Amino acid sequence: PLRIGVLALQGAFAEHIQVLRRLGAEAVEVRKAEQLAQLDGLIIPGGESTTIGLIAARWGLVEPLRRWVQTGRPIWGTCAGMILLAEQATGQKAGGQPLLGGLRVTVNRNFFGRQTESFETLLHVPALGPEPCPAVFIRAPAITAVEPGVEVLATLAVAPFLRPGFRRRGAGEEAAAGSEGATETAPKTEEAPAEVIVAVRQGTILATAFHPELTDDVRWHRLFLEMAAQSAANPVPANPSMAPS
Ligand code: GLN
Repeated sequence: PLRIGVLALQGAFAEHIQVLRRLGAEAVEVRKAEQLAQLDGLIIPGGESTTIGLIAARWGLVEPLRRWVQTGRPIWGTCAGMILLAEQATGQKAGGQPLLGGLRVTVNRNFFGRQTESFETLLHVPALGPEPCPAVFIRAPAITAVEPGVEVLATLAVAPFLRPGFRRRGAGEEAAAGSEGATETAPKTEEAPAEVIVAVRQGTILATAFHPELTDDVRWHRLFLEMAAQSAANPVPANPSMAPS
């Protein structure tokens, strides 16, 4: 069977492991860099991205994880995991946060977070088939921009999930205030976009803003296992999705 690691530093790793086992995969809690060599795929779970990033740094996992992504090994980030995979993060406290990067998107770290904390909704996801997909969002991030080569798998119209009168700090402010850490001080606000991106795929990278491991719908895990199986069958020396575009 496929051997899938779940980064087990903090957050919802146990739930991913249960689903993977239910689908017949071998699932391993990963806490050390040495464990990566034995795996066909890796999941970075939801939780708190700053905490996961700090523990990963303390345990010497950041560079090995970056290498994992850059060499085109299959990886799936859910929620906080998606934030860590992003090339760019905006929003509360995003400035000081070490990211793994590789996924050419901009995430807003707490896009829904301070508004509703959590909610569940149904998503239309053509890549998973016609049945709508239940999705649990917990202090969830959202993708606000993607670069070419990133396949959008699901979007969400945000209006029902925002407080009336909600305004968020704009993406323009980072540029205006300098490149790092300036989101807290910038005074400018802008209207929330009508729609955000909540699931993407870029080569061997899968990312979801929500928590499929907390629902009974196993199609996301199946999709990731297919990606891992394909990659195990045709190992590539470097991630084609990482080539300069
Ligand atoms: N917004 C959280 C963060 O910044 C992610 C929340 C989650 O993973 N459920 O890490």
